Amino acid sequence: MNYTAILQEIYQQIKRLPVTGTVTETIPELATIDPNKFGMHLTTLNGDDFGIGNSDEKFSIQSISKTLTVAMAFSLLGERMWERVGVEPSGNPFNSLVQLEYEKGMPRNPFINAGAIVVADMLVSQLKDPKKEFLDFVRMLSGSPQIDFNRSVAESEKQTGFRNVALANFIKSFGNIENDVDTVLDFYFFQCSIEMSCKELAHAFFFFANGGITKSGRQVLTQSQAKRLNALMQMCGFYDESGEFTYKVGLPGKSGIGGGIAALYPKNFTVTTWSPRLNEKGNSELGMNALELLTTKTGMSIF
Ligand code: GLN
Repeated sequence: MNYTAILQEIYQQIKRLPVTGTVTETIPELATIDPNKFGMHLTTLNGDDFGIGNSDEKFSIQSISKTLTVAMAFSLLGERMWERVGVEPSGNPFNSLVQLEYEKGMPRNPFINAGAIVVADMLVSQLKDPKKEFLDFVRMLSGSPQIDFNRSVAESEKQTGFRNVALANFIKSFGNIENDVDTVLDFYFFQCSIEMSCKELAHAFFFFANGGITKSGRQVLTQSQAKRLNALMQMCGFYDESGEFTYKVGLPGKSGIGGGIAALYPKNFTVTTWSPRLNEKGNSELGMNALELLTTKTGMSIF
């Protein structure tokens, strides 16, 4: 398939759409980003790369990091990890607290903040040097040793992440956080502040599309585990807009409030977009549009 022409067409169409959505205001350090950036990158499982716009520029991956912490925790703990976090869609905003009370501190899935904080706690317990080991894992997945986190974004979120502090303490009150809350949140803010380009992210996501095997040939998850995480992304990757993303795009994927989206077509390709203007659910407006155009034009959707 000639993805060069398809990406160019999508880019032209995207540029003509009315400007809607706003850059996140929840993390002050991210509010200063140029809202008009747009990048898109597609990597096929044959290893071909297709990029357009600002696809080589780094951005804050934010909640997309949750897919990579889950993958690492799943490889370390196996099915045991689901004793502490569920596999059900939440139908609620990413930072919601409401379901935790009647579910006794067990988050509904690992992609809402509550679930990602429990997964962060698992990694803090499992790893000797959690930040370094997780960053090494991300670099290995992507094949880019220069990937790093952004200290000012992590600090900015630490200053203003009152909801995440509330979530972590609430979960701890039910006994579902083992470590000190500050240590767990420090790791969580670190993982969210990692910066990657669309291209690096498309490479890092390769293993999800390739039965658990990375672009460089390393088996990090079993085929069944990769299938399970893809299923979770399909059901929960866009919070209370997961249905809409599935309906319009028809691929498993995950968004972040930095404006990124990473998605994949199993056995075929991974595709990433970056556009910082978010809709009211916190998902990238143009990113969702671009991916809808991609699967509509090519018919490459799991449905
Ligand atoms: N760091 C952000 C937060 O915890 C991540 C949220 C997101 O990307 N949706 O609020």
